[in-house]
Parts: sequence; C-alpha cells; structure tokens
Amino acid sequence: MSQPTILQKTLRMKTAVDGVGLHSGKRVRLKLMPAPSDSGLVFVRTDQNRPVEIPARAEHVVDTRLSTTLGRDGVSLATVEHLVAALVGLGVDNARIEVDGPEVPILDGSAAPFVRLVLDAGLREQKAPRKVAVVKKTVTVQDGDKTARLSPASHLSIHCAVDFRHPLITDQRLSLEVTPRSFVRELATARTFGFKREVEYLQSRGFALGGSLENAIVVDDFHILNPDGLRFPDEFVRHKMLDAVGDLALAGHPVVGAMHATKTGHALNHRLVTKLLAEPGAVEIVSLGDVREAKPVPATVELPMGGLELA
Ligand SMILES: [Zn+2]
Repeated sequence: MSQPTILQKTLRMKTAVDGVGLHSGKRVRLKLMPAPSDSGLVFVRTDQNRPVEIPARAEHVVDTRLSTTLGRDGVSLATVEHLVAALVGLGVDNARIEVDGPEVPILDGSAAPFVRLVLDAGLREQKAPRKVAVVKKTVTVQDGDKTARLSPASHLSIHCAVDFRHPLITDQRLSLEVTPRSFVRELATARTFGFKREVEYLQSRGFALGGSLENAIVVDDFHILNPDGLRFPDEFVRHKMLDAVGDLALAGHPVVGAMHATKTGHALNHRLVTKLLAEPGAVEIVSLGDVREAKPVPATVELPMGGLELA
C-alpha cells in the first residue's frame, strides 16, 4: 500500500519581528516570508550592498563555537538554530528569512517566539511532495566523552543526555519523538543557558553582549539567577534537544532517524550532519508522494495545536 502524499509547506503570509542578537548585542529586524517549493530555508542578509543569500544547509556552517553560524561570500549570520528549529519543528519546508544584521534575534532565548510568529502567519501547503532525509545506516561522531549518533528509524526521535557536573544540571536525560505537537509542547519554550562565570568571561571578550536574564537562563554555582526560575525542571536537556532539531535540519531536508546524543553541542551536531551527508549510503533523500497525484489543497493548514500554552 502506498503512503499518502505529504506536501511541502511554506508560510501563508509575511511576518516580522525585531530583537537583539545574543552575541553581537545589535538590534536586528527579521522578516519571514513564503518561498517556492523546493527552495528550502534560505537566509538573506539584506544590509549588504547586494543581498547575500545563505541557504540553511550544513555546507554553509562557518562557526559552531557559541551558536550555529552560517556564512557565504565572507558574510555571516549567527545563532540561526532556534529559528530553524521552529520552522522545521512546525513542518515548514520553504521560507525566505531576511535579516538586516549579523545575528538572528535571540528574543527570549527559546524557539517559542518564532513558533508564535509562524503560527500567527499560518502555513500553506504547496504542490510538490515533501522530501525527507532518511537515515539508512548508523553514523557516529565523538569528541572525548561527547557522542552523537544517527540511526535508521521510522520517525525523527531525539534521545539526549546532559551532565555539566553542576548541582542543578547533573544527568538530565529525555527521549522524544519529534512531531509538531511534541516540539511545541516539550522543546520550543526551553531557553538557552549559561554559567555566570562564563557569561562574564564572554562579555569581557566582546561576546554575549545582548545576553541578559530576559533571554537566557543564567546559573551560578548553586542557584538559578532568573527570578522566575525554570520553565521545566529539566529545561537544560530540553534546550539541547531544541538546538539538535535546528542543527539536524541543516541536512537540507527533515531528517527521519533516531538521534542519540550525550553532552552534545553545535560543533558535534554539525559534524554528525556533515558525516551523514558525506558517508556513502548513509542517507537517502525520499519524496513523500508522487507529484502527479498531488491534489489541490486548501489554502491554509491548521496545525493540531488545540489547548497549547506557550510560556
Ligand atoms: Zn540554543
């Protein structure tokens, strides 16, 4: 029996948001707009003499030290991961993302504001079937005690463990099948986090200049410094999984496979995706339907999000 055709999706209309970059501290305007079938997620730096288009793909990753930074022709764009996670997590295949500065705004440090933006704009199905990156054989990358692995599976699932040898963040682990509903409920609102000492050090070196308790969880040796505390007791591991959703999407298509990650971060996630794409026979790009069978579709798509509460 053949699978029903699943069509690509884009935004129903344009939308925009302003905010500061976490590391640059610079104010930027981000516009999300619909894009044609098979164009993927494409960032555009609009503050250049000529707009520079940077597809959200692993081959354009130029830095993974503090966030995932994309670059092309000497122009870069930092901290793309939470926005990419929101788009892919909600099932958006194609979007043009214009940014008039060097970094995607951090907003509240999670993907929730981007989710709200996309849901407010709405989604529209397109004529072409969705293409997915199906993992066909296990690939693993390692860096000391950090490991990340992708294995064949029928859906995207992420199994993640963190241990920062910190009283508040020891041995958090979580497994999740990633669907639009589970992404929004379980991962989207989890915020980025930092240790007070590291934040101070980074700021002394000119990084994390936009960082504050408004857009990150900050912990010292024994306390959460944010007055309202955590959104989940295990918000840290959830944020690592959110980052992984964004970083995996840089395969260029939604990944179908099981990711096991221990103490992973952007650098290892990027190495994993790069290895998946480079290793012969490790991944197959599969179309979820026949373009000739694709039927006219309603103008808008309702996501199954009843009763959702975004923090
Ligand atoms: Zn993050």
